[in-house]
Amino acid sequence: MSQSKSATQTFRAIDVIRKKRDAIELSSAEIEGLGNAYTRGDIPDYQVSAWLMAVVLRGMTRPETAALTDAMLRSGEVLDLSSLPARKVDKHSTGGVGDKTSLVLAPLVAAAGVAVPMISGRGLGHTGGTLDKLEAIPGFNVNLPVAEFRRVLETCGCAMIGQTAEIAPADRKLYALRDVTGTVESPYLICASIMSKKLAEGIDSLVLDVKTGSGAFMKNEKDAAFLAELMVETGERMGKQVVALITDMDQPLGNMIGNALEVVEVVEVLRDGGPEDLRELCLELAGWMLRLGGVSKTVAEGKEQSARLISSGKALERFRQMVELQGGDARVIDDVRRLPQAQRSMQVTSAKAGYISAMQCEQIGTACVILGGGRERKEDSVDPSVGIVLHKKVGDRVSAGEPLATIHYNSEFKAQNDCQLIEQSCEIAIAPPAERPLVHKVIGESGDRY
Ligand code: URA
Repeated sequence: MSQSKSATQTFRAIDVIRKKRDAIELSSAEIEGLGNAYTRGDIPDYQVSAWLMAVVLRGMTRPETAALTDAMLRSGEVLDLSSLPARKVDKHSTGGVGDKTSLVLAPLVAAAGVAVPMISGRGLGHTGGTLDKLEAIPGFNVNLPVAEFRRVLETCGCAMIGQTAEIAPADRKLYALRDVTGTVESPYLICASIMSKKLAEGIDSLVLDVKTGSGAFMKNEKDAAFLAELMVETGERMGKQVVALITDMDQPLGNMIGNALEVVEVVEVLRDGGPEDLRELCLELAGWMLRLGGVSKTVAEGKEQSARLISSGKALERFRQMVELQGGDARVIDDVRRLPQAQRSMQVTSAKAGYISAMQCEQIGTACVILGGGRERKEDSVDPSVGIVLHKKVGDRVSAGEPLATIHYNSEFKAQNDCQLIEQSCEIAIAPPAERPLVHKVIGESGDRY
């Protein structure tokens, strides 16, 4: 009898919940039993929710985290992409507000000759999700079977899908449950979720974007560094080259938050424009991906190469090709008005004059979820058209009565609630704050910046 079968036979969800509640270390067999039983549908959401909450409160040991990551990874297929000649490199973020870098990076890095097989997630808590953004493009299919995913990857060098019944099915279920049960904010669960997906992709190297600040799950740099180290260690244990950049999420990235609106900003960046912070972070992450992918010697060289691929239009063309291959309407790239648009909009104005000294970034993300841009329950669908456009960012001057943001909405009631939330999120002071760097720290790859 195999080990996993005997583990399943003796497994009782209630025992595992109680043990974790009482901070008793679980064995690999118990963690594997829980993961397998939930993936098969043998234990209900309410028992797994209780266990997840116990993990958030009690934490996990390194062996428990490794066992959970392994169980989630082995819940599905591990892709073998060794027949592809290019190096395979991916990027994953721990979740932010307005973070649409994945949509820029996959085609950009593919245009440099590095293969990007990307398995992403949906919105999680107050943060946005790559899959929800991609689905704002009419027809775009994020549920490709493995054979089709491989075909798109071979044809254009990048492909973007979600967890499937074949790849990382345990994360597909746990991710959706964590989203609506307040159980996202655990470094151990985030590590297992991210690394199980990434290790299933058949990649050689991985760049992690670990967010820190008021809009991140890890609010301070110490917690972000802990998560980054946990993930780098997990990846290296599995023989992958992993680097983690701790980047700023104390305010939204770029100016647009909401699924279709974020696609607009992606097209702007790929057209060599877009907001400076978004463009800069895309180039930094691309620089690392190119270096790990072996097409540039240094990160600085990788950044320059990436900037040229954008200004020449090659990255945009690669994006167009991927959208077409995945069934999306590529006409949105030439005319973004073809993307879903909310029926109405209203402005949020500033009550006083001064400088934006801080933004409660999580509240801005929550404001987008309230509009319908994210989920309150597992079965909810998202409204791709709603969102928020910021007119001011941290450090900007503002006069009394000047617009801080525009809300794009389909429900008057939700928009009124949002108006207050956004106004409260913007703190105004008489002087501008000290500037925060976009990249706080680099972990892994000997922490060498360039
Ligand atoms: N991204 C993921 O894929 N999983 C998490 O838990 C958080 C961010």
